[in-house]
Amino acid sequence: MIAMQLDAPGRPLRRVERPMPEPGPGEIRVAVAACGVCRTDLHIVDGDIRGHLPVVPGHEIVGRVDATGPDVSRFCPGERVGIAWLAGTCGLCSYCKDGRENLCDSPAFTGFTRDGGFASHCIADARFCFPLPATFDDLHAAPLLCAGLIGYRAYRMAGDAKSLGLYGFGAAAHILAQLAIAQGRTVFAFTRDGDFAGQDFARRLGCQWAGSSTAAPPEPLDAAIIFAPVGALVPEALKRVRKGGRVICAGIHMSDIPAFPYADLWEERSILSVANLTRADGTEFLALASRHPIETHVTAFPLDQANEALALLRSGKAEGAIVLRP
Ligand SMILES: [Zn+2]
Ligand SMILES: [Zn+2]
Repeated sequence: MIAMQLDAPGRPLRRVERPMPEPGPGEIRVAVAACGVCRTDLHIVDGDIRGHLPVVPGHEIVGRVDATGPDVSRFCPGERVGIAWLAGTCGLCSYCKDGRENLCDSPAFTGFTRDGGFASHCIADARFCFPLPATFDDLHAAPLLCAGLIGYRAYRMAGDAKSLGLYGFGAAAHILAQLAIAQGRTVFAFTRDGDFAGQDFARRLGCQWAGSSTAAPPEPLDAAIIFAPVGALVPEALKRVRKGGRVICAGIHMSDIPAFPYADLWEERSILSVANLTRADGTEFLALASRHPIETHVTAFPLDQANEALALLRSGKAEGAIVLRP
């Protein structure tokens, strides 16, 4: 098998050839057809978050079951599956027991604590894989698996907000904006200063307004979701939400949040963070994605060009999502 491996933070990924891995009990081996490139991959490569090394990043994997280990009845060889960030949980801790497996005390994560999908093949625990809606081809299904899915967890935390602000209009926001609009909400998109291409993209997808992240939207927001890894956006977004409004931080890593006046938080505004996903989130979101007119916009790179793909993501110039193809 071929993989793009991270040996140390800050280094480019290196193409390696490895013996084909064999699935153990409860596991499947998947021949990767497409794997999305997520901001979390960038945080891992840059060393903002640190885990097991060397590692093969990639946790938005679409592929076909290539071999099954003992005790796998859920999937058959040839079946298409999706593999997301949550690769395993202990099943025993208080979080697992009360339905919050996203907060498990001993979790495994795809492309972080175990090898992911920047590869021709990967191994996954069959219980953590998802069947995918047939309405999406391999390339366009890949971004659903993190941008869509963890984005959806953040979206649900926004409650029944009628006016929703999205800070950072990348892979996650472009999917959630379409879902929110289909569900009758009004969406306001905030981008980096001067990112007119990004603002135009947001308006083309149906956002009511798009502008700089330091600008005031035409009306106060019921909730705002911050997808950009920029702590300064937290006080910025707080100023834009009405009384009782929520600001949800959707990323795994963010630069420090600057101090701000208590008055901006007062009147029952709240700041929340989202961590990981549960399998129930995945099932719920993928069902919604098949029922609503959601289209993912994708820039594809060959697997060998994973470093170029990461550079494009870092530049902020990609429209929608970036996906690797082995
Ligand atoms: Zn647990
Ligand atoms: Zn991700």
